[in-house]
Amino acid sequence: MSSSRAIEALKEALRRLPGVGPKTAQRMAFHLMERDRDGAREIAVALENAIETVKSCSRCNTFCEAELCDLCGSTKRDPSALCVVETPADLEAIEQSGAFSGMYFVLMGQLSPIDGVGPDKLGFDRLNKLISEEGIGEVIIATNLTAEGEATAEYLRQLTDGHDVRTTRLARGVPVGGELEYMDQRTVSQAFHDRREMG
Ligand code: ZN
Repeated sequence: MSSSRAIEALKEALRRLPGVGPKTAQRMAFHLMERDRDGAREIAVALENAIETVKSCSRCNTFCEAELCDLCGSTKRDPSALCVVETPADLEAIEQSGAFSGMYFVLMGQLSPIDGVGPDKLGFDRLNKLISEEGIGEVIIATNLTAEGEATAEYLRQLTDGHDVRTTRLARGVPVGGELEYMDQRTVSQAFHDRREMG
């Protein structure tokens, strides 16, 4: 315990970050207070600003500051291909690989019955509507190649069965059990080019 309640509160707050345990939280808190109070202020302002301005795109769910994100608002994308991903980080990984020029739908998670995350929480209804209404020709299921990602993919395949669309799944690339977010650009690109028909 430090003799400052404020430091204790800061450590507690930092522990909310993924992968940050008590030791790391303490190191961060001490670092900021000892050596980088300007940095601490910058973090505080950036957090406040992000909380106030970041919203979800009304079409694809990804983070943005307007009603529609830049990708959904763009006229340069191929509107006949729809790529379904778990998170905005996965969307970024695919964008950076340069392998895809269509549209996205971001689930903001994966099916996890144990944690109470069912299809209703992942906006499957909206996805269903979007596939019906937007003349989509191919749905590319790019959920992670993990057990939960595969289960989510299977559920999505059943959903697309009700539509006249081609349904494909990213190839099981080299790192089995891989999460897109942590793959290098070439691997993501390869998994995309080698995508296979599903169902
Ligand atoms: Zn969007």
